[in-house]
Amino acid sequence: MGVRPARLPLDRGADRLAAGTARRPESSSLVHYVSSRGRVPDLSFEGVMRAGLAADGGLYVPAEWPRLEPAALRELAGAPYREVAFRVMWPFVDGFEEARFRELIAEAYAGFAHAEVAPLVQIGPGHWLMELFHGPTLAFKDVAMQLLGRMFDEVLDRRGERVTIVGATSGDTGAAAIEAFRERQAVEVFILYPDGRISEAQRRQMTTVDAPNVHTIAIQGTFDDCQALLKGMFNDAGFREELRLSAVNSINWARVLAQIVYYVYAAVQLGPERPVRFVVPTGNFGDIYAGYVAHRMGLPVARLVAATNRNDILHRFFQSGEYRPSTVVATQSPSMDIQVASNFERLLFDLCDRDGAEVSTLMRQLETEGRFVVGDNRLGPARALFASASIDEAETTATIRRVREMTGMLVDPHTAVGIAAAWAGGLDATPTINLATAHAAKFGDAVARAAGTAPALPAHIADLYQREEHFTVLPNDLEAVQAHIRAQVH
Ligand SMILES: *Cc1c(COP(=O)(O)O)cnc(C)c1O
Repeated sequence: MGVRPARLPLDRGADRLAAGTARRPESSSLVHYVSSRGRVPDLSFEGVMRAGLAADGGLYVPAEWPRLEPAALRELAGAPYREVAFRVMWPFVDGFEEARFRELIAEAYAGFAHAEVAPLVQIGPGHWLMELFHGPTLAFKDVAMQLLGRMFDEVLDRRGERVTIVGATSGDTGAAAIEAFRERQAVEVFILYPDGRISEAQRRQMTTVDAPNVHTIAIQGTFDDCQALLKGMFNDAGFREELRLSAVNSINWARVLAQIVYYVYAAVQLGPERPVRFVVPTGNFGDIYAGYVAHRMGLPVARLVAATNRNDILHRFFQSGEYRPSTVVATQSPSMDIQVASNFERLLFDLCDRDGAEVSTLMRQLETEGRFVVGDNRLGPARALFASASIDEAETTATIRRVREMTGMLVDPHTAVGIAAAWAGGLDATPTINLATAHAAKFGDAVARAAGTAPALPAHIADLYQREEHFTVLPNDLEAVQAHIRAQVH
C-alpha cells in the first residue's frame, strides 16, 4: 500500500539474528517508539509496554518497520507457530534475553487447545478460516494477552515492582486478562463487570478462576457505571500512586505486536509469496491494525477487509473519509459494539504521513465537533489496501445458518460478520482468510437461535457450569470499590 513510500533499510546489526528473522531497521539496532501525536519523547519497547497510552494522549507506534524479506518469508512457511512468533516479534522487542523471550512464547501458547495455536480450516474454494479461539477464554484476545501477561510480569519482577491492574469489562477482555494474569507474581488484578448484565458463560469464565491475585467485582450498575468507576480510580492521584494502578487495554502496543504473528503464520502457509486477503471482524481496530503492520513489514497482503456489525463507524470512514461516532447499538456480536475505535489513530498517523500535529488537530476536532473528515489525499491510499462492509443482524444470523449447511461447522456471530463481508465482497483467485475471533460456544445462545443446534463447550472448559464461582458484589460507589481494593492489596 502506498500510505507512505516503504523504506527499505539496509540491514545492519542483524547478524545475531537467525536467518529468516525480520530485520531491524538500519538506523539503530533497536526499534524505538513514537507517539501518534508527536509531543512526547520516544520510548523503548519496555517503556511503551509499561506506559500503555502516551502522555500526550497519543498511541505509541514503531518509528520504523522491521522488514520481512521474501527469503525470510520462504523460511517461515511451514515453521511452527512459536518459531514464527519469535522471528516476527523479536526485532520489535528489547529488554529480554533471546532465550527467555522464546521461553515466554512457548509458555504463553502451551495452554492452547490446538497445537497449531492458529490453525487454518478451509471452508470453500480459495476460502479459509483462521481459528484464533483455542486459548483459555475462547476468543482471539487470549493470543495477545497470554504473552503480554508473562512479559509484563517478567519486566515488573526484574524491576522489583508490583502493580494493581484494574479493568472494566462487558465480556471478553476481562476474562482474557484474568486468565493471563492469574498466578503472576507482580500483579494484582481487579475486574469490574455489570452485575447481571453479561452472559453466564462470560461471567463464569471470570468468576471461576480461583487464584489469590484475581478479584472479580460485580457492580450493581451498568457497563458505563463500571467504566466511570475505573476513570474515578485513575483520576484519584493519591489512590493511583498508592496502589500503582495499571491497565492492559487494547491500545497497549504489546497486544498489537502479538497479533501480527498470526497474519504472517497464515499467509506464508498459502503463499509464501502469493498475496492473500484477510477479512477481520472489527471493533477497536486492534486486530486488523496488526494485519496492516504485517503488510508494512513486507507480508504480501492484497486486501484487509474491516467487517463491522451495525456499529459501522469504520465502514463509513472507508466509504466517505468522515469519522463520526454515533450511538452504540447492541448486537449479537457484542465485542464489536464500539463506536470509537481507539487503535484507528495508529493508522491515521500513517495516513497523515506521520505528522503528529495533524493527528492532534483531527482528534481535537473529534472532541469538540464530534467528527472529522480527511481528504482524498489521505483516504485514497487507505482505500488502496483496506475495504470494509457493515453487516446487519439478519445477515449475521443467515450466515451462521448457511455456514452450518455448507460445512457442518458452527461459527460465532463475530466470525459470521466477517464471513458475510467476505461473501459480499466476492471471492476470486486471491486466497481469502477469514479471522475466526471467538468459539461458537462462547456465544452459544445466538448460535443456537441461528443454526438450530447448540455448540458444545470444548473439552478444556466443559465443566465451566459446575465450577465454583468467586466474586464480590459492590454498590456503584467509588469509595466502596476503592476501600475493597485497598483491603485486598494490603
Ligand atoms: C475484541 C473482539 C473483536 C474485535 O477486535 P478489535 O481488535 O477490537 O477490532 C472481534 N471479535 C471478538 C470475538 C472479540 O472479542
